[in-house]
Amino acid sequence: EGFVIAIDGPSGSGKSSTAKGVARARDLRYLDTGAMYRAMTWWMLTNGIDVADASAVADAAARPVITMGTDPDAPTVHVDGVDVARQIRTDEVTANVSAVSAVPRVRELLVARQREIIAEACATAPGIVVEGRDITTVVAPDAPVKLFLTASAEARAQRRSREVRSDDVAATREALVRRDRLDSTRAVSPLTQTPDATELDTTGLSLDEVIALVVKLADE
Ligand code: C5P
Repeated sequence: EGFVIAIDGPSGSGKSSTAKGVARARDLRYLDTGAMYRAMTWWMLTNGIDVADASAVADAAARPVITMGTDPDAPTVHVDGVDVARQIRTDEVTANVSAVSAVPRVRELLVARQREIIAEACATAPGIVVEGRDITTVVAPDAPVKLFLTASAEARAQRRSREVRSDDVAATREALVRRDRLDSTRAVSPLTQTPDATELDTTGLSLDEVIALVVKLADE
């Protein structure tokens, strides 16, 4: 029986870096579920699907084959065999991903795939660290370790700006706040903080400090 660490939180709360670091430290696999919603969004945009049309998105959602590599040192994302790691990080994908991820059929398909990846990691590896918006609530509510990462909007905007190499922290902050609002208010599986996930406010903590705290929690 493998070990699952579930991590949720808003954009820029440090989920990806933390999840990768913890996976490395504990020899676990790593799954970035946000990359799957981004891959789905990239495919919709590339194939001329109107992402504002929820029924068109739902009808097309089963067409792309999204595959994830779960090595924390070299995570990969492919759509129909094409490496889309770079393409899924564009501003266009970022601006449209909340609309696509709000479509129930998209979530149904991706959550099923995420559960398969988790089951495989538990069967073949010591376990997996999974990060996203609905991991502690929907994808893996029975995970032994559940975390909700937070940070001030300012700290999150600073981090995201560094990640995307933008000098315009105000614009980054605005885009991030908008996306969090959409992700927290959608009808299906909104980003929600539940009392059974341990809250970790990462504002003012270094990445190494956050990783050490999570590893300690996981060892308890
Ligand atoms: O984590 P990241 O910021 O790359 O996620 C991109 C988007 O994917 C989020 O803004 C959200 O709309 C969607 N997402 C989701 N459920 C998850 C992970 C991501 O709806 N578990």
